[in-house]
Formats: sequence, structure tokens, C-alpha cells
Amino acid sequence: MAGKKGFVLCVCQGTCPSFTEMNIFGVLSDVRRAKIFDYVCLHPQLCVGDGEEFLKVLLSGGETQKLYVAACDPQMQCKMFRDAFEAVGFDKAKHFALDIRNKTTEEAVEAIKKLAEENP
Ligand code: SF4
Repeated sequence: MAGKKGFVLCVCQGTCPSFTEMNIFGVLSDVRRAKIFDYVCLHPQLCVGDGEEFLKVLLSGGETQKLYVAACDPQMQCKMFRDAFEAVGFDKAKHFALDIRNKTTEEAVEAIKKLAEENP
């Protein structure tokens, strides 16, 4: 099971104005159908305590080799997820972050596909 590519969509509880232009489930569904990743999932708030726990549980088994996260600013993501990655020994260089705020469904899906293409 080693070497999986995982995708997480994080949406600021779904209430942040930055995510209202897209259909969150439409994005997830389109990305899933494109079969770019081995799995896709949605988390409402990765940067709080239980979000950190989610990342630890998700990555602790070692099956996920690369993690693509569509959410907020990439530099913020790096800082916010660092402790969780370090706790389970996940290489932060294998985290590919994308800012999808203020995008439509189509724009978000295209940006996610591009991220995956550029970081195979
Ligand atoms: S990780 Fe980013 S997108 Fe997700 S809840 Fe935190 S600030 Fe919002």
C-alpha cells in the first residue's frame, strides 16, 4: 500500500466568504472523477487541534507518500501542519499546498489538476 497520493480539501468550516464561489462537493467530486489521486477527502478545519489529529492519523501508517492540500495560503499551510508532519515523520517536502480561495468550482478543479501535474 506504499506510495499513495492523497488529496485533502480544507474549507474553513465552509463558512468563510473565500469559499462561497465554489461548490465544495462539486470540486471534490470532479477531482475524484479525474483519478489524479489515490484518495480524496474533505476536512472542515485542518489547522485546529482535531485537524492536526486527522493529519497524524492519516499519515501515520506511511502509506501516503505525497499529500496535496487545497486550502489557504501555501506558506501558512506549511507552518500550520508542520507539527503534525513532524510528529509522524512525514517529509514536509512531500506536502504540496495550493491556495484555492476565491475560486469558482471550475477554477479550483483546474488549479488542483495543475498542482498534481507539476508535482507528480
Ligand atoms: S487550514 Fe487554511 S483553509 Fe483550512 S481551516 Fe485553516 S485557515 Fe482555513
